Amino acid sequence: MNIILLGPPGAGKGTQARILMDRHGLVQLSTGDMLRAAVKAGTEIGLKAKAVMEAGELVSDDIVIGIVSDRLDEPDVKAGVIFDGFPRTAAQAEALDNLLAQKGMTLDSVVSMDVDDELLVDRVSGRFTCAMCGEGYHDTHKRPEKDGVCDKCGSTEFKRRPDDNAETVRARLEAYHAETAPLIAYYEAAGKLKKIDGMADIDDVTAALERALGKGA
Ligand code: ADP
Ligand code: AMP
Repeated sequence: MNIILLGPPGAGKGTQARILMDRHGLVQLSTGDMLRAAVKAGTEIGLKAKAVMEAGELVSDDIVIGIVSDRLDEPDVKAGVIFDGFPRTAAQAEALDNLLAQKGMTLDSVVSMDVDDELLVDRVSGRFTCAMCGEGYHDTHKRPEKDGVCDKCGSTEFKRRPDDNAETVRARLEAYHAETAPLIAYYEAAGKLKKIDGMADIDDVTAALERALGKGA
């Protein structure tokens, strides 16, 4: 099963992708994570993407489509892919259709996660992750069970993204509304779209997502 989680920054795509990965053995393909890894490694792509990401703007379609194409050539994607943060433009959506056809893969569902902008600013501003395993947390909505210790791996190191500040979030939301939100109509026309309420508690969102995907809860 190959699916897209479509939603604005902070909608909960990464949180839900990790849960689906654990429960159903799917592979998370997050272009944001891949670009951050490229920035950290100082690759040519990372050098081009760094300033754009810090400004909350979109990295060029060519770069992003290139890294997704390469990733889809790795064997683990056969287990099924959760696209998280891709596609984000009409050109990326069309390129994904072509890539999947070329690689003999199909797109099963696109789940649109609906969350109001005011909530997103709070979600993104309070986000932090485990520096070791990447488990996501939030200052108020999802704190580690034991303060300062990751529930998943026991690490005591956490990190925050440089672009997770209130000012950059506004730019990212603008980019979402201008470039990405129109994809909802694109996938509705293709008969792939399912909508869920992303404003419910994390567990309730997971249940709605699993129902939308026909995976039961
Ligand atoms: P995205 O990947 O869509 O940008 P994340 O999954 O990283 O979003 O979620 C953003 C922040 O909001 C994280 O700190 C996460 O812990 C928190 N969060 C995710 N889903 C919910 C939810 N349903 N209710 C409250 N907080 C949530
Ligand atoms: P994310 O982790 O999905 O919130 O993405 C973080 C940042 O990476 C975005 O604000 C963009 O600058 C860049 N990015 C991630 N995915 C894409 C994409 N599909 N297209 C363009 N830019 C992207």
